Amino acid sequence: MTATPFHATVLGAPRIGPNRELKRATEKYWAGTLDRTGLAAVAAGLRRDTLTSLVAAGLDSVPVNTFSYYDQMLDTAALLGALPARVAGVADELDRYFAAARGTADIAPLEMTKWFDTNYHYIVPEIGPATRFTLNPGKILAELAEARELGVPARPVLIGPLTFLLLSKAVDGADAPISRLDELTEVYAELLGTLADAGAQWVQIDEPVLVTDISADAPALAERVYSRLGGLNRRPAIFVASYFGDPGAGLSALARTPVEAIGVDFVYGPNTAIASVPQLASKTLVAGVVDGRNIWRTDLRAALAKLAALRDSAQTVAVSTSCSTLHVPYSLEPETGLDDTLRSWLAFGAEKVAEVATLARALRDGPAAVAQQIAASDAAVASRASDPRLHNAALRTQIAELTAAGSRRGSAAARRAAQDERLQLPALPTTTIGSFPQTVDIRRARASLVAGQIDQAEYTKRMQDEIAAVIALQEDLGLDVLVHGEPERNDMVQYFAERLDGFFATSNGWVQSYGSRCVRPPVLFGDVTRPDPMTVPWARYAQSLTDKPVKGMLTGPVTILAWSFVRDDQPLADTAYQVALAIREETVDLEAAGIAIIQVDEPALRELLPLRDADKPAYLDWAVGAFVLSTSGVADGTQIHTHLCYSEFGEVIGAIAELDADVTSIEAARSHMEVLDDLNAIGFAGSVGPGVYDIHSPRVPSAQEMTGSLREALEAVPAQRLWVNPDCGLKTRKTDEVVASLRNMVTAARTVRN
Ligand code: GLN
Ligand code: ZN
Repeated sequence: MTATPFHATVLGAPRIGPNRELKRATEKYWAGTLDRTGLAAVAAGLRRDTLTSLVAAGLDSVPVNTFSYYDQMLDTAALLGALPARVAGVADELDRYFAAARGTADIAPLEMTKWFDTNYHYIVPEIGPATRFTLNPGKILAELAEARELGVPARPVLIGPLTFLLLSKAVDGADAPISRLDELTEVYAELLGTLADAGAQWVQIDEPVLVTDISADAPALAERVYSRLGGLNRRPAIFVASYFGDPGAGLSALARTPVEAIGVDFVYGPNTAIASVPQLASKTLVAGVVDGRNIWRTDLRAALAKLAALRDSAQTVAVSTSCSTLHVPYSLEPETGLDDTLRSWLAFGAEKVAEVATLARALRDGPAAVAQQIAASDAAVASRASDPRLHNAALRTQIAELTAAGSRRGSAAARRAAQDERLQLPALPTTTIGSFPQTVDIRRARASLVAGQIDQAEYTKRMQDEIAAVIALQEDLGLDVLVHGEPERNDMVQYFAERLDGFFATSNGWVQSYGSRCVRPPVLFGDVTRPDPMTVPWARYAQSLTDKPVKGMLTGPVTILAWSFVRDDQPLADTAYQVALAIREETVDLEAAGIAIIQVDEPALRELLPLRDADKPAYLDWAVGAFVLSTSGVADGTQIHTHLCYSEFGEVIGAIAELDADVTSIEAARSHMEVLDDLNAIGFAGSVGPGVYDIHSPRVPSAQEMTGSLREALEAVPAQRLWVNPDCGLKTRKTDEVVASLRNMVTAARTVRN
């Protein structure tokens, strides 16, 4: 292959639109208010803007086919003829694709899960005995042609066969999808020929699975696949990209194959001492030195030092982002509300592309050519190193002392005795997970407050009315432990981020979460402290309306980190402990306000689990430590609950026990109580509330059905340790569904109690 080497690129780009244009267009298309042509025009416009801006910024190789109407794994399934048979009846291609993603009235959608350790969710392809891989390259060829027409040095991007199969799910009794690797490799071989014919000089094939321990065979399989694809004589030059971590043995395996370029993430991956891979000397090393998934400005001097250290290990060293910039907002430009110092520390998507170009220019012309940019980067580094908002010594001392002292709560038995005495709950107590439906009135009140149409006093009154209604409803239903319903929370992380020092909110920092859903994560930039109580007045008000206990409701430190952009200048553990201390102060204030039960939610406990097995124990250690710090400031008579969801507890099950909560509610309605057996297997002795019904569906379960679930649960957990609750918060449900379901749930609990 005699393709020209490239020097500056990104691995992929956001596609949702700088102002979420694609989200709006697809949602209108689904609603039937925008036709096919209108949707296609929006999409084409966004692709064109992305391509031209990447070229204008100075990239000499530009990714294409990173646009998606929904998700790149789903695109790959469509490309390979691997959509499930149940959508085959949908005649139109785009509607078939959306049916696989979202389902229809009669078709169940594919599952969705987290893309590695990011907050992006991909669609999980199903591979069954009936799956026949066939090439369907319409989308990729069209996007390549579109880019070539614009004169863009286009590099089509594909998800590699290894990653595709290892992230897919076997169905209908099929063997693990990876057993189809050789067969699928031939489809990729055909595709490479097609792309070469269409004029592609380079192709990028993503194999992030190489940075995980999902399969111990991955390096050997990669060597087999890329030896085969590299051996083709009609193909573009091949760039295999790994990202999100250290490819380990995968790197030397790829280096032994004839591929022309290999991508390594030097932000989250290995250090630069990879010169020991001799075969790299004849290849292009695409060095991901600009963080593609966090929002901090690159330390250009440090990045240049990395690049200099790599220079002799490869024939060409190209500069790139560590991964696709899909995971960061488009641009810093709309963020006009930030102070200049804070702003100088940041780089969003567009700014990262400029950094890549600057670094490539420094490699080519010497650092003097970019002296100004380096000076600005130095200034930002120096200002972050000295800004008092990031260096609160007293806070650090306080945390060190508290963590050294350990938890001061009593034994589980002592806590149990104190709580039983104080709370006097019946056997199988009934409760909910926290939120009640976010009604139109609630959203309207929040929007009016933001728009300045109502004042804080009026807003507070409307929220109090909502709380009063939710308390009255729960009393009427006969629940034992009540909640205030969380009407005042826009989001369970954002709400706290807005009330803690050390965070700021972006005005337009949207990133794709899945499909058309976007999130605007808060930025945790500094030391975290709590200026004032965050939830106490709401909890106190709710408790004043009832004699039953009202649960205080907080979000845990790991979840707050997982759903924010976090600072990169100190270990995650240090940041987690700071957030934990703020939550701890809140629990102490809630307790002082007479709240007897406090729930600290950690639904994201599993999400931050490192990709490599070797790194998992250290993570679980600080994740548990932060939770314990946040919950151990209260007396034995105050009952601590936690809530976990998103199933697949396997790897974190031991940590769940170590959280040492008095009561753990857990999503189990869909995993048929298996989680209870797993908890028993590790000797879990706390109380547990396995969700008795699935709140992710509008279906109202009958009392009889939930009686069945409870009896099943009682086979695994004795009655003194069993709680009765739905499997997650109710905020996305309609009020009438909630009322009917909870009424049946209370009936079921009473039936089983008798
Ligand atoms: N307390 C939160 C709620 O009920 C928990 C949400 C969650 O688990 N994601 O909404
Ligand atoms: Zn949940």
